[in-house]
Amino acid sequence: MKYIGAHVSAGGGVENAPVNAHKIGATAFALFTKNQRQWEAKPLTRETIEAFKSGCAKYGYQPHQILPHDSYLINLGHPEPEALQKSRNAFLDEMQRCGQLGLDRLNFHPGSHLNQISEEQCLTTIAESINWALNQTSGVTAVIENTAGQGSNLGFSFYQLKKIIDKVEDKSRVGVCIDTCHAYSAGYDIKTKAGFEKVFHEFEVVVGFQYLKGMHINGSKKELGSRVDRHDSLGTGTLGLEIFECIMNDSRFDGIPLILETPNEELWAEEIELLKNMQK
Ligand SMILES: [Zn+2]
Ligand SMILES: [Zn+2]
Repeated sequence: MKYIGAHVSAGGGVENAPVNAHKIGATAFALFTKNQRQWEAKPLTRETIEAFKSGCAKYGYQPHQILPHDSYLINLGHPEPEALQKSRNAFLDEMQRCGQLGLDRLNFHPGSHLNQISEEQCLTTIAESINWALNQTSGVTAVIENTAGQGSNLGFSFYQLKKIIDKVEDKSRVGVCIDTCHAYSAGYDIKTKAGFEKVFHEFEVVVGFQYLKGMHINGSKKELGSRVDRHDSLGTGTLGLEIFECIMNDSRFDGIPLILETPNEELWAEEIELLKNMQK
């Protein structure tokens, strides 16, 4: 079973996300459980939590169809102790919010070394941050997203994802989300069926599909290996459509949220329909 949706708005309250997802014919969705550009957030109220849960029940969204995304401000590999702690606290809060909403995974960007520490040190710090948060929570899996490798962002190679996972103590609560735009921008040539097969074989060998807890389904505005993160709508930009046909017809991508983060939300309903129809 393929679960297909988009990163929908939670404006006005997280309880609006399942409603917005249902409106576009989605069988999966992503959301921010707080304003993604601010550090502080009001705690979720009992009413909000109940409304979110009943919306999910009403429209048929179970936890494995939902992929919350954390704030863009958080850097779990921050080289400076104070700033690192600030990020860790915010990440823990996000994990706890997911738990309160009955969700089972939290998608995040691994972190940046800011050219102050080595890649190796930064990857270790990220893993320690994950351990720190997992030790204080239960039931929510930390889902590391691959990045385009823009600036000093790590997690752009499968080896880096693997290095983080290796240092996480509770392997049952760590996973990955692969973003097609980020992979392509990072130099993984997934544009053709042959390229897709080769890259995801490498993924299986290096990371393993047992860790795959979600996918971000995006076109790319930039070229292969550009290391620039610019999402595009499906079929426009540089990535084409073949990759998405491959994903939609491959059972290794069953049972997880497949989430559009494409720039034109007017097209989401159409893009979801397009993906559904690709299934043979
Ligand atoms: Zn992301
Ligand atoms: Zn993404």
